[in-house]
Amino acid sequence: MKNQENALKEVKTLLKKHSISYLRKAFGQKFLIDFSILERQIILADITGKDKVLEIGAGLGTLTRKLAEKAGKVYTFESDKKLAHALEKEVSVFPNVEVIPEDAVKSPFPPFNKCVSNLPYNISSPIMFKLLKHDFEHAVLMLQKEFAERLVSKPGSKDYSRLTVLASLKTKIEIAQIVPKTAFYPVPKVDSVLAVINPIRSPFEKDLEERLEDLLRVLFSRKSRKVRKVLRSFLNKKIQDKAFTKKIVSKLPYAEERIKFLQPIQFINITKTLIRLLEEVGIGWEDVFSGTKT
Ligand code: SAH
Repeated sequence: MKNQENALKEVKTLLKKHSISYLRKAFGQKFLIDFSILERQIILADITGKDKVLEIGAGLGTLTRKLAEKAGKVYTFESDKKLAHALEKEVSVFPNVEVIPEDAVKSPFPPFNKCVSNLPYNISSPIMFKLLKHDFEHAVLMLQKEFAERLVSKPGSKDYSRLTVLASLKTKIEIAQIVPKTAFYPVPKVDSVLAVINPIRSPFEKDLEERLEDLLRVLFSRKSRKVRKVLRSFLNKKIQDKAFTKKIVSKLPYAEERIKFLQPIQFINITKTLIRLLEEVGIGWEDVFSGTKT
């Protein structure tokens, strides 16, 4: 507790020093003040001098400094210009830290092999989708508890989502520790967790993955319905011949199942079959699915 009081003092001193008088809720600005959790995060991340570490949402650089002591290189995003400016100064003693004063959702990631972040909650979802498109060794992320539960949820649960399916096909996610909300300043409404994310050899090629994503976007827009219904009404809007779409859909596996009950791997089977059926009649995947991307 003493440590936490000191850490809180340190955060407040830094804010004052850099004339930051208010914190921006919309930026998910909540600073970690329990350094035992920081230590645990560093141990889980297993950083060595060979590592290029990506951090998203550096804040005042509490985690950044710890990473910089061990890593070969740390790239850290901080989109709040005022904080980024303060951060530049605070980490200037570490020549291996590069502060990127940009929005981590919109800017390309620099080359990295590990990602360690106390993620701003408002961008957890787009950052997870983006991370899944990169190759890396592992990620140790502080996530909002509800978000982490969504990531590891099972078919049939209300949290089961497009991101759950993709994450479970591409990674193994382990919740290493629950982090109480009192570990942050200001205290947020909800607890967090430390999640360790290990990519696994994914069961598909790049092309298939993109098509799977297209299909998931359509299916999860109505996840309580049956595969047949959702795909038929979608295809009917794209292909004029209704008898033909009826035939295609009847040939798909799990057509009578409700989307939310399907296992992740079953979505791959549907995608592969749909690719083949469209190919057989000379309809391009893109002709059907362009316009579904967000
Ligand atoms: N890692 C720090 C701060 C966490 S708060 C700590 O643990 O103490 C999250 C930080 O992410 C805030 O400083 C916020 O300004 C920043 N942030 C929010 N949205 C961002 C985005 N889109 N790109 C980069 N940084 C962002």
